[in-house]
Amino acid sequence: MPYKFTFDLSSVPRFFFTELTVLSYQKGMHKKFLETAHDLIIKFHIQEATGLNLADAVVLLEDLIDLQATNSIQRSKFLKTKKRALFLPHCSRKYMDSRCKATFDPAIPTYSCAHCSEDCLVNKACQIACNKNYDVYVLPGGSCIPKILKATHYEGIVGVACGEETKMMGQMLGGMDVAGQGIPLIKNGCASTIFNIETLAKVL
Ligand code: SF4
Repeated sequence: MPYKFTFDLSSVPRFFFTELTVLSYQKGMHKKFLETAHDLIIKFHIQEATGLNLADAVVLLEDLIDLQATNSIQRSKFLKTKKRALFLPHCSRKYMDSRCKATFDPAIPTYSCAHCSEDCLVNKACQIACNKNYDVYVLPGGSCIPKILKATHYEGIVGVACGEETKMMGQMLGGMDVAGQGIPLIKNGCASTIFNIETLAKVL
């Protein structure tokens, strides 16, 4: 289930995400974890930057930390994989109407980017991933993933989604012995969602 709230972390300093990585290593070992998470929210003005209340900001932060921790655990297994796929959310396309020239194949199901806009996030991600021999899927929703994984066996998956959805994807992949890496959206919503392209390039 996607979040019941919207968020936009795109204006939050990069250092915030570095702190998150540090915190992800401490999770489970640090008794004062929640207290530290609260401190991080206050330090980086997350409530002011996102408009979230404290409870939602904590949920968001915890999911991001969980994701970093899972990525770290899975990383060495992922690096050994050869056949990989990248799952991108269709809501990160530059256009969500007929100006997007991607074609949709319901049989797979996926959009295929037609590279109509140089500055489209999905286009940039497709180009980086294709150069690294990934199969790329631009998905209308996470419910498409089981069908794709049933049709084609991948050893490694990189998925871009909100923290809650990447958590669900991690649980699904864990049961299938597929190594996963998650890239969180830093701005969610129904359209114009954003992820960090440099982070994705590093993970691929
Ligand atoms: S670059 Fe691709 S995904 Fe982006 S708007 Fe064009 S066809 Fe759609």
